[in-house]
Parts: sequence; structure tokens; C-alpha cells
Amino acid sequence: MSIKKVTVAGAGTMGNGIAQVFAQNGFEVTMLDVKEDFLNRAVKTITKNLGRMAKKGKIEEKEIDNIMSRIKTVTQAEDASDCDILVEAIFEDFNAKSEIFRKFDSLCGSDVIFASNTSSISITSLASETSRPGKFIGMHFMNPVPVMKLVEVIRGLATEDETTDTVVSLSEKLQKVPLEANDYPGFVANRVLMPMINEACFCLMEGVAEKEAIDGVMKLGMAHPMGPLALADLIGLDICLNILRVLQNGFGDPKYRPCPLLVKKVEAGHLGRKTGRGFYEYD
Ligand code: NAD
Repeated sequence: MSIKKVTVAGAGTMGNGIAQVFAQNGFEVTMLDVKEDFLNRAVKTITKNLGRMAKKGKIEEKEIDNIMSRIKTVTQAEDASDCDILVEAIFEDFNAKSEIFRKFDSLCGSDVIFASNTSSISITSLASETSRPGKFIGMHFMNPVPVMKLVEVIRGLATEDETTDTVVSLSEKLQKVPLEANDYPGFVANRVLMPMINEACFCLMEGVAEKEAIDGVMKLGMAHPMGPLALADLIGLDICLNILRVLQNGFGDPKYRPCPLLVKKVEAGHLGRKTGRGFYEYD
């Protein structure tokens, strides 16, 4: 199936990055959010990012206006339903996501593909909220979207092969590398990453090493660009805890139990960079 028009629902951190890469690669994008202000902020962010890329010589300055002209912003789903694919990037909340998918299900033709950028919600259960589980898939971009190469493509239980093939080739057209996974809790990215972060928290709690040493071991010894505790601060400790709970509930395996130190930090509101304090302190 040929994709030309894309609707991106949610213009936050992920949504504006997703809209940017689609527009950069020639797609017509409609960006939907609940408030004009959020859309204006997203457009500003994309313009700034493109400007930065032009300064670095990654795109030509004169391309910026063309790219921006391919992005339309709307606050009503009704004005965003004329699309070949819907990429949803709203809050990580099952009810909010299922509501928006049900709304678009009633507005869009039956051949329109629905993709969710969820980090941890079951693709199969979101798909079953719609009349098109065969056309439903996970398209898990990484943050920051314009920079990170990976798109984790998640097949729900009912996702048709044709849908997967379309989304794999679409991701390649975005100059990303799609890697396929089946729909199990945490998919691959978070199933591997979160237990590592959790184990780093246990090492800190048990006094195995200081935080700088834990992060240093993983950076210098394993060539990770960032240590797990610094990465947890970047992701948000509340997000890490939520995903660990998804793994714990989904598998019922005690190996996913969240470290009590992580729980305590979230209870204290020390959520990482976004609150100025997590495992490290930020200005
Ligand atoms: P965010 O809070 O930055 O943005 C969410 C946006 O969705 C907000 O602008 C909000 O106003 C909008 N929104 C909420 N309800 C809406 C609705 N009904 N219709 C239209 N817009 C609506 O969140 P984010 O960090 O961009 O995360 C979005 C999704 O991407 C989540 O599912 C998250 O798990 C996933 N994700 C996030 C990251 C990350 O690092 N931030 C990485 C991978 C995946």
C-alpha cells in the first residue's frame, strides 16, 4: 500500500519528532493535539531543529520552508482523518489511546493503517478496541526521533503481514532501520533496557558501587554512550517504574520487581532531569 498522507496524533516530545521526519522525507503531515498552544510549540521545536540541522550542513537552509509547508496543524480529529496512516503519540494511557483510536476508527476508511508509538501498552489490546486489528501495528520510535535510527515495529496478534510490510518499508523511507518484534510486554527495547536500569538501581541501593562508578562501568566497559542511572534520569524515573510494572504484571515473574530505591525516588518526586533531581542533580 502506498502511503502519502500521515496524521500524527499528539504533538509532544515524540509527536513533533515523528512529524518532522515524515515531512523531511516528503510526506504530507497533519499534526493533531488538543490545544493550539501545544501545536505552536511543536512547530517552533521542529523549525528550531531544522535550523540546527541546516547549520550543521545536514539539510539545505532553503529546504526548511518546503518541509514546514508539508506540516498542517489541527485540534479536531475530524480535520485529520484524511490520511493513509495514523501514528498515535499521545500520553501513555490505555484509556486515552483507545478513545482516540475508536474516534479515528469511526472517521477513517477501513484501509487506513493505525500505528501506536506506545512504549509499553499491548498493541493487541489497543487493536481490539478498533474494527481493524489486521491494520493495527506498533511503530515505536526512539527519542530524539530525528536522530535515532531505530523503529521497533511491533506486530499485534492479529496484525496482517501486508500491514507489517507497509510499515517496514515506510520506516525505511524515513531513513530509519525497522526491526520487527512480536507483541509481548516491553517488546524488545524496554524488556532489555529496563531490567538493566533496575539492576543498576539495586547496585546503588546495596552499596555495590557509587552512582558514578556504576555508570562508568557501563560506559567504559560496555561502550554504552550513557550509564544506566543517567539514562534513567533522562527517560524519567516514573516512566521507568511504569514500564517495570508492565513487565512485572505482564509476565508475573519476580525478576522484574522494581528496585525499592527507584520506587522511593518516584514517591519523593525525584523523577530525573524533568524535576531537576533523580539519581543526579541538574540545574
Ligand atoms: P508528551 O507528554 O511529550 O506528549 C503527548 C502529547 O499528546 C501532548 O502534547 C498532549 O497534549 C497530546 N495529547 C494528549 N491527549 C491527546 C488527544 N486525545 N489528542 C491529541 N493529542 C493529545 O509525551 P511523549 O513523551 O511524546 O510520549 C508520547 C508517546 O510516545 C507515549 O506513548 C510514550 O510512551 C511514547 N514514547 C515516548 C518516548 C520518550 O522518550 N518520550 C520514547 C518512545 C516512546
